[in-house]
Amino acid sequence: GPSLVWFRDDLRLADNPALQAALERGEPIVAVYVLDEESAGVRPLGGAARWWLHGSLLSLADSLERLGGRLTLRRGPAERVIGELAASVGAGAAFWNRRYGRAEREVDTRIKASLLAAGTETRSFAGSLLFEPWTIQTGQGGSYSVFTPFWRACTAGPPPRAPYPAPEAIPGLAADVPSDALEDWALLPTRPDWAGGLREAWQPGEESAHRLLDTFLRDSLPRYGAERDQPAQAVTSRLSPHLRWGEISPFQIWHATEWARTGLTGNAQSSATRFLTEVGWREFSYHVLFNAPDLATENLRPEFDAFPWPSLDERALARWQQGRTGIPLVDAGMRELWRTGSMHNRVRMVAASFLIKNLLIDWRLGEQWFWDTLVDADAASNPFGWQWVAGSGADAAPYFRVFNPELQAKKFDPHGEYIRQNVPEYGTDAYPAPIVDLGETRRAALAAYEQIKGMK
Ligand code: FAD
Repeated sequence: GPSLVWFRDDLRLADNPALQAALERGEPIVAVYVLDEESAGVRPLGGAARWWLHGSLLSLADSLERLGGRLTLRRGPAERVIGELAASVGAGAAFWNRRYGRAEREVDTRIKASLLAAGTETRSFAGSLLFEPWTIQTGQGGSYSVFTPFWRACTAGPPPRAPYPAPEAIPGLAADVPSDALEDWALLPTRPDWAGGLREAWQPGEESAHRLLDTFLRDSLPRYGAERDQPAQAVTSRLSPHLRWGEISPFQIWHATEWARTGLTGNAQSSATRFLTEVGWREFSYHVLFNAPDLATENLRPEFDAFPWPSLDERALARWQQGRTGIPLVDAGMRELWRTGSMHNRVRMVAASFLIKNLLIDWRLGEQWFWDTLVDADAASNPFGWQWVAGSGADAAPYFRVFNPELQAKKFDPHGEYIRQNVPEYGTDAYPAPIVDLGETRRAALAAYEQIKGMK
């Protein structure tokens, strides 16, 4: 019978090991994406992620059709949907690339068991991470909680496998497989349509991911090491949402970067190492998530459970979300986020630190806002980043390190370009006064931290 290929966080045709296995098997392919908002524990997608998914599925469906295949869309709990689909097409095999969240792994394990019981060959593959989280172990056989030795262990072994080429044809099924209409999933915002800025900033899909990578390697890689922290320079790759949805694989990025590196010397060459190290932080986030599945809701350092958060100041939270705190770099970042669905990494750190340590608002509320508004909202990197800034996470910045947003602006946006791009009224009467005193709130945060320091 035909091969079922279940697309999830791997919305691409090239370097897709599950698809590759189906192609090698030789039978017709039924490609399916399941919108699962019902399985227990699966975190519902945020608004910006839903917007991205719509575009990415359009693009994937289009690429499949050009090669003779088709994308089937189904909505519902994955266990039921995949079971029914496999039975209705008489699937001889089912292939997918692995996911790493606990709820997703549990769903996949159950589906695998029932498909195998029904006599369907079922296999899962490594497609989203260079290093499967459980394969990287300390000398004692445990997991890593510090990045540098983790990445050293990763890079000490054989290099990541070469990517698979793009397929030339996808043999589809002759019979018609019923599919939902993408429009019926209502992934796009209406009334109000807030996605105008997202449409201007992004083009979801495999093709545009590769265009971004090519441009980045050609124009920006040599400067990446020196300028990656300056938001106005825009030298970073902007690949994060494409990686989140697997429109491009880390294997493709790794090998293309290694190839580009051969043409570089000196500082430009170490830029390549720096860039791959950032890709390594993504790997580390997943390593941490795999070993601490409640990363988005539970402090990794339990002493932070006793942190004396004051009662929530809803007004301050709203001002932060709207980018109207009166702190220019924070507001620039929050407005960039609202408008484009993204924010430069340096500014993410500053905006997060301000919420946690100057407004004394629980990091989970910031994490949730980012989850809803980022096009790259990622189940591992987002909570990992928030816990890193909060000081409660793995290899985190110590709590007492409070970013000073004014010094950060001087250092990383010295001409105020990034601030003016995002806060046009900066410097006029229309710009609000700071809602808090940075020095006073910093002292209050440190005093709160004193109360939990030394607890375990
Ligand atoms: P580049 O500098 O070009 O880096 C290349 C790739 O490496 C990125 O696309 C990304 O996949 C990975 N990467 C780079 N930095 C990090 C990092 N610090 N942690 C993990 N992976 C990294 N990244 C997300 O992909 N999704 C998130 O939801 C997310 N939330 C964050 C929240 C906070 C509070 C912080 C401080 C960081 C967060 N990051 C998140 C990490 C980082 O900010 C983004 O990956 C980066 O800004 C994406 O831009 P880029 O693709 O141009 O990065």
